[in-house]
Amino acid sequence: MAAIIDGKKISQEIKDQVKLEISQLNHELKPGLAVVLVGEDPASMVYVSNKVKACNETGINSFKYELPATTPEAELMNLIDELNNDNKINGILVQLPLPKHINEEAVIKKINPLKDVDGFHPENVGKISIGAEDCFYPCTPYGCQELIYRTVNDIKGKHLVIVGRSNIVGKPLANMMIQKKDRANCIVTVCHTAAKDISVYTKQADILVVAVGYKDTVTGDMVKPGAVVIDVGMNRLPHPDDSNKTKLYGDVDYDSVFPIASAITPVPGGVGPMTISMLMRNTLKAFKIHNNIKN
Ligand code: NAP
Repeated sequence: MAAIIDGKKISQEIKDQVKLEISQLNHELKPGLAVVLVGEDPASMVYVSNKVKACNETGINSFKYELPATTPEAELMNLIDELNNDNKINGILVQLPLPKHINEEAVIKKINPLKDVDGFHPENVGKISIGAEDCFYPCTPYGCQELIYRTVNDIKGKHLVIVGRSNIVGKPLANMMIQKKDRANCIVTVCHTAAKDISVYTKQADILVVAVGYKDTVTGDMVKPGAVVIDVGMNRLPHPDDSNKTKLYGDVDYDSVFPIASAITPVPGGVGPMTISMLMRNTLKAFKIHNNIKN
């Protein structure tokens, strides 16, 4: 039977650590995070309010910008310019997706890479791939890495298999975990829809991370006994017992994998809560970089 990796508890520990460090900062300013929401997408509104709540919990100043869906791209660019130049702001998070008329890539590139606490700017992507220190990991793979670090002893040489190669999860995680210089140092395989049979790869995994966006993509027969399984999937589907409700599922068939794995993240309560905590950690890191605070 697998140990259940309690993402909620670990996430709280990280927020508590960030709060403690902020309370001990001997500085006239506090870390500041700007959260920019364009439009009224209900899921994005929930994400933004959760981020603001986490800022309040940890002692980070939050600055919320709610713009109408019709906001011209140039206006959003001007706001980012202002935030880039504002020393009260250490992190800038533009909630994605943006309305169709706005070029997301251009917006991401506009953010000062040293305030890019989402870790999506090409400069951060490049720095992650070369193992630089002064960069920001995207929050979801950063959360996965933290869960792996807290679950797996002696990670060096372990075979990490990632299913999914998105720019926000699979690819950055692969780059983070392949580095020779820190605790990562894994043998990394990334598979995707071009694989004829992903079980060829998943069965080899000591650590298996699944980030595809489809329920039950990985089942117990595809997992090596004793593997650590991290389920990133968040699939909101009709509730099996009540058609008026929805239920959140991961990408892993929890019931069949649970007896095979040595540890597994539940959905909800695994990777999900970690993302916001890592955003708080990134914002504190940005503050330290901007104010030349070492440690
Ligand atoms: P994405 O951009 O749609 O990428 C999905 C990846 O999975 C693609 O690389 C795709 O391959 C691959 N894939 C899809 N079906 C596959 C299959 N049957 N076999 C092998 N590979 C397959 O998704 P994403 O943004 O990375 O998100 C993935 C999941 O994580 C979603 O459920 C999302 O909601 C969740 N998520 C959760 C959090 C969180 O905070 N917990 C954050 C981000 C995402 P191709 O490249 O070949 O198309």
